[in-house]
Amino acid sequence: MADELVRMITKDGYVKGMAITGRKLTERARQIHKTLPVATAALGRTLMAASLMGSMLKEREGSVTLRIKGGGPLGVITAVADSEGNPRGYVQNGHVELPLKAPGKLDVGTAVGRDGFLTVIKDMGLREPYVGSVALVSGEIAEDITAYFAQSEQIPTACALGVLVDRDQSVACAGGYLVQLLPGAPAEIVDRLETAVAALGPVTTALSDGLDAAGLLQKVLAGGEPELLERTAITYRCQCSRERVTRALISMGKKEMGDLIREQGGAELTCQFCDRVYHFTKEELERLLQNATKE
Ligand SMILES: [Zn+2]
Repeated sequence: MADELVRMITKDGYVKGMAITGRKLTERARQIHKTLPVATAALGRTLMAASLMGSMLKEREGSVTLRIKGGGPLGVITAVADSEGNPRGYVQNGHVELPLKAPGKLDVGTAVGRDGFLTVIKDMGLREPYVGSVALVSGEIAEDITAYFAQSEQIPTACALGVLVDRDQSVACAGGYLVQLLPGAPAEIVDRLETAVAALGPVTTALSDGLDAAGLLQKVLAGGEPELLERTAITYRCQCSRERVTRALISMGKKEMGDLIREQGGAELTCQFCDRVYHFTKEELERLLQNATKE
């Protein structure tokens, strides 16, 4: 089954929600970056969070970047999503191994760390992107996203994200939801949501039991007669191209390019988001350097 993103609103108009399934995109990230389980879970959660937040943008060319730096052994985690919710990302140290927190429970919070920040960069096509940053709460990602919305955007939010890694280290299931109260929502709506969230239990358990993204969100919005607004397939999508890599090469500067030509006689650049490798021969580099010098 393809990964997907669904969006719903309750009939009373007080709660809007989104849910995601991301087994394939998380598995793709694992294969690209060869991550071990705790890194797979942390990166998968961050990718899905970026996807949910990217799809909230109204600008077609917009993007959302999440950067989590918690001081833990994983280092910095970065995820970027386009406005359709297609994410890409990487983690600095994907080979971290930690003892389980409880039987079957990966210790994502310790791996990420709690001493640092979640930074959200929204590129909405304006000259300056919007940048918001909050101190990490637990390093478990979903709680940190909730804190971001409460502090930076003043929107009461409930978020859950889960990745279940199989015995062979592949991704068994992944998914989550993000629901938000709209202005004027009465207090009993909060009680209703809290009851529904508690009844649903852990996301990975619900997914293992066979729920899809729509099923997940229906349970979270239970009692509010949710209406389906949108359902889209999403995928791990890198936007690298030879053109972009060439621009990055030129921006290194003439001296560095000259060094590459002299010392390595060419260049081999691997995209940080995917497994694509770009080769540049000595002649190509020389031509780029010449053009750069002309300008
Ligand atoms: Zn790429």
